[in-house]
Amino acid sequence: MKNIVIAGAGFGGLRCALDLEKSLKSFPEYKVIVIDQNPYHLYTPSLYEIATAQLPRRCVCLPYSEVFSNKKITFIHQQIKHIKVSEKLLETESGDKISYEFLVLALGARTDYFGVPGLEKYSFGFKSLPEALKLRNYLEEVFKNTKEKLPTGLEEDLSVVVGGAGFSGVELAGELSGYLSRLCRKYSLRPEKITLSLVEARGEILSGLPKKISVLAKKRLEKLKVRLLIKTAIAQVKPSGLVSADGTAIPSTVVVWTGGVRANPLLEQSGLEVDKKGRLSVDENLRYLKEGSLFALGDNASFIASGANTAVLGQAEVAIDQGRVVAKNIIAEIFGRPLTKYQPKVSGFVIPIKGNYAIALAFNFIFSGYFAIVLKKFIELRYLFSVLPPFKALKFFRPEAKLLIE
Ligand SMILES: Cc1cc2nc3c(=O)[nH]c(=O)nc-3n(C[C@H](O)[C@H](O)[C@H](O)COP(=O)(O)OP(=O)(O)OC[C@H]3O[C@@H](n4cnc5c(N)ncnc54)[C@H](O)[C@@H]3O)c2cc1C
Repeated sequence: MKNIVIAGAGFGGLRCALDLEKSLKSFPEYKVIVIDQNPYHLYTPSLYEIATAQLPRRCVCLPYSEVFSNKKITFIHQQIKHIKVSEKLLETESGDKISYEFLVLALGARTDYFGVPGLEKYSFGFKSLPEALKLRNYLEEVFKNTKEKLPTGLEEDLSVVVGGAGFSGVELAGELSGYLSRLCRKYSLRPEKITLSLVEARGEILSGLPKKISVLAKKRLEKLKVRLLIKTAIAQVKPSGLVSADGTAIPSTVVVWTGGVRANPLLEQSGLEVDKKGRLSVDENLRYLKEGSLFALGDNASFIASGANTAVLGQAEVAIDQGRVVAKNIIAEIFGRPLTKYQPKVSGFVIPIKGNYAIALAFNFIFSGYFAIVLKKFIELRYLFSVLPPFKALKFFRPEAKLLIE
């Protein structure tokens, strides 16, 4: 029996596993093994709604037991601790050793704190379900404690700061404006006592995207009373707040850091050669070191298209496309066929900014408002249909579940 091991079943790993299973189900000498530290697949584009108590957790978590039921895939719910390329095996937290014929590294990314003093210690991350839930619960706790101090007149002003005005930071700041207002009502606090800021080191929010998008986002956030602090690099974080590079103190009760992404540290810890963002350089077939048995994709891979200066951005759609190409190339290696080249293509994106408002770029056309939210829902539904049978996809999508708050 030859093992094809997919390490990590996020957007890229899951697509790769499902495609491999489809092609290899009548070849019993190959076993598709998926290893993930979580029992669920996380739909990150809706994570901001978990952090702000808009969605119950089941709306962003697809249990692998559902996704892999009736599939010839062996799912191992364990954390991988070592990748031993020279021995062609992986070691898990329980000490199990899993050998492979082919390995796909799809272990995603972590928050990068860029070595800023205090940033990791005194801020909340926003990449995983536990982080989103921790933030949501902590905010509620802060409001509850402030309410308890109300009769004494000792309640303090509350300042929530989101660091990094990329996609996640902008989405989270928008949604937090609504969550903080709801908490104000729940704990009878005056909204004037609360400040919500979005801090960005660069000269504009959503930098790198078309100007029109950052202008629309800025207008929306200002309408939601989010204070925008651009050209403000965080130099230090203390329990009392931030200190910017020019020495200005920004008091903050809660800091959420969305500004940095680094590939899973396990790659570097396992002695693999990584770039400055911790990723593995891959060739046009998404092979690491041009090695026929080792592939990397999504947030683990650094792929620079010919003529481009920078690697393809870490996005769900990119990881999914790469998962498809890796599955094709493993099949090609097995059956001695020509390999497929990865051609980057991103059709667009949607940036939701509170409630029924989003900004979308699709087919080179920028639009905002309710239709962009409809597009977001459509993308979500299409994704669910691509990984689940239709009935189950609808079950996870059903809107009435989203009205519940856990
Ligand atoms: C809050 C947020 C919002 C986002 N919104 C969007 C969006 O709207 N659109 C978009 O295109 N992209 C979005 N992204 C980016 C997108 O989620 C990533 O680019 C994408 O998930 C990368 O896919 P991947 O397959 O490389 O890794 P992931 O999807 O991150 O999957 C990695 C998998 O590896 C598992 N894993 C990690 N370490 C181990 C270990 N040691 N052992 C076993 N398993 C392990 C994890 O549990 C996970 O299942 C968002 C990201 C975040 C954090």
